Amino acid sequence: MPIAVADAPGAYEIDFLADDGAKLASAKLTIRATSFPTQNVVLAPQIEALHSTPEDIATLTEFRNTVSDVKYWEDPLTAPVPGCVLSPFGVKRLHNGKPTGEFHAGIDQRSPAGRPIHAVAAGTVKIAQPFAVLGGTVAIDHGQGLETMYLHMAKLLVAPGAHVEKGEVIGYVGATGRANGPHLHWVVDVNGVPVNPQQWVTLKSCSSGKTQPKTK
Ligand SMILES: [Zn+2]
Repeated sequence: MPIAVADAPGAYEIDFLADDGAKLASAKLTIRATSFPTQNVVLAPQIEALHSTPEDIATLTEFRNTVSDVKYWEDPLTAPVPGCVLSPFGVKRLHNGKPTGEFHAGIDQRSPAGRPIHAVAAGTVKIAQPFAVLGGTVAIDHGQGLETMYLHMAKLLVAPGAHVEKGEVIGYVGATGRANGPHLHWVVDVNGVPVNPQQWVTLKSCSSGKTQPKTK
């Protein structure tokens, strides 16, 4: 089960329910405190002005709210591109010095434009289209609540409905949408909640040169 960035630290009890709502069992859960750094992103005015349309938001919400039955994924996932992590998950974002109220719901990996992007696990392509803010986007349902998205792509090689295998090339790195240069922003959702992709793959940070611990 996912823990959302906004969930408060503390002790929780989780209930396991049958289809009819009857309580089958319960378990104790502790959410520990963490802190996320703040990052300012410098954007050109015409890039900062990009906003999602209601249609874009509806398409993405429907994708996030779908949990399909068949599990196509296995742990660990493979990295979609080989580059180091420029910006980690959970960072509080400012645009040109102004707080946005948004957090970084994925990670950014360094990559030149045109590098192939690989599916991190097998699954079914649900979205393959350009969005104003996200740019060229592919979204894959890997089954049983695990979904990934790949943003700012230059070129998409897959279409909705396609089955992809782990490692299959789904498109190429770009800087489309609200991006200040070529990189790959990708997202892992568990049951519709964005979680830290670095709990699923081992990647180096660009700043420290150290490998991030795999903590899942
Ligand atoms: Zn990003």
